[in-house]
Amino acid sequence: MFIVIIVVVAVVVAGKTYAPPPSPPRVPTAEDLARSEAIRQVEAKAAMLFPLVQRAWGAGSMAPVRRWLSDSTYQRFELQLAIARRQGVRNVVENPELVQSWFWSHRAFGRYQSVYLCVQGRLCDYTVRVDDGTLVRGDRSPTQFEEVWTFARMQGAEGSGAAASSCPKCGAPVEDSGGTRCSRCAAIVNSGAYDWVLSAITQKSEYEIPPAVSPIEQKIAAIGTQHGVSLLGWLSPEEIEDRASAVFVRLHESFHDGRLADLAPFATQSLLGELEKSGRGRLGLHHLAIGAASLVDVAAEGEAVRATVRVKFSGCTGPEQPVSEAAPFEHHLVFTRNLNSKPSAAGLASLGCGSCGAPIESADQANCTYCKARLDSPDGAWILSGYEMAPTFRLQ
Ligand SMILES: [Zn+2]
Ligand SMILES: [Zn+2]
Repeated sequence: MFIVIIVVVAVVVAGKTYAPPPSPPRVPTAEDLARSEAIRQVEAKAAMLFPLVQRAWGAGSMAPVRRWLSDSTYQRFELQLAIARRQGVRNVVENPELVQSWFWSHRAFGRYQSVYLCVQGRLCDYTVRVDDGTLVRGDRSPTQFEEVWTFARMQGAEGSGAAASSCPKCGAPVEDSGGTRCSRCAAIVNSGAYDWVLSAITQKSEYEIPPAVSPIEQKIAAIGTQHGVSLLGWLSPEEIEDRASAVFVRLHESFHDGRLADLAPFATQSLLGELEKSGRGRLGLHHLAIGAASLVDVAAEGEAVRATVRVKFSGCTGPEQPVSEAAPFEHHLVFTRNLNSKPSAAGLASLGCGSCGAPIESADQANCTYCKARLDSPDGAWILSGYEMAPTFRLQ
């Protein structure tokens, strides 16, 4: 302590006359090199994916690119496409071009690392009526836009920037049919266990750079220490946020269709009963557009961990209300999982079976078709146990 004080005083006393010598260039550490390799792979992946994603969107189905998208990203796109179909309109995209992309930030915590890339693209983007081709929105001249694309993968995954046409685990050909599960070795290709997965797309203006030291990460570490268990293998913000966002889409589709039972593999029976009883299950917002899903709290409760995710979105209370009048909302989704959970094989294929990661085919199945695990068990998956709407929200 004494020495430190002397040094500080010496610098202060020397005042303007003291200029520290320039520090020698830092030798890159293994971590720096791994990070630049990750950035290189992600830039190549974005260049490969950009036109494919735009074309899939324009064609009205994200199935051809599903293997590179996390479940929440896929669900969000599909939701928007379904809304457009319901309205009898189609978004046309032409001549997609990736102008440039550059590294924005990087984050590594627990099981995942994420690279945030700023993507500048150009395309012709307009909406027409399906029946007679009348222009509804936009025009046919090219427009430029900027977004932040987040790519995530598990630590230790090898990753690549390539458009692999084969299973990243066993090399078997993977058909371009929208499947995410290798038919030979059962690997879930969009889990993040093998390669980078596009886990979020955010408007650049809405994007918030994550803090260097995240209070949530500190809380997760503290709960682990307090209970003498390591949570880092499975309590991951990436997985919870992806699942929350995908379940949120499912939940609102069920609200619309009046089929809350479709949520059975993802939510507790008591919550579904409560939503049904209170009438909240009959709320159906229109023109839904989902913004960020962020993990805002974690807490241990007995043998379980409760994770609260805030979902920001906008929507209209009736189909006739114009999109320009959509109001912003913030709802909180509470998920529960057992404190002694095992890591989920589903990863960022977050709507899959928690035990083996296989896709959940139908809403009325109680057990996984492949491994027979109970789907609504909080042993290996985050189960929706609470749904809190902002007090300002009014039912129709
Ligand atoms: Zn395989
Ligand atoms: Zn399974």
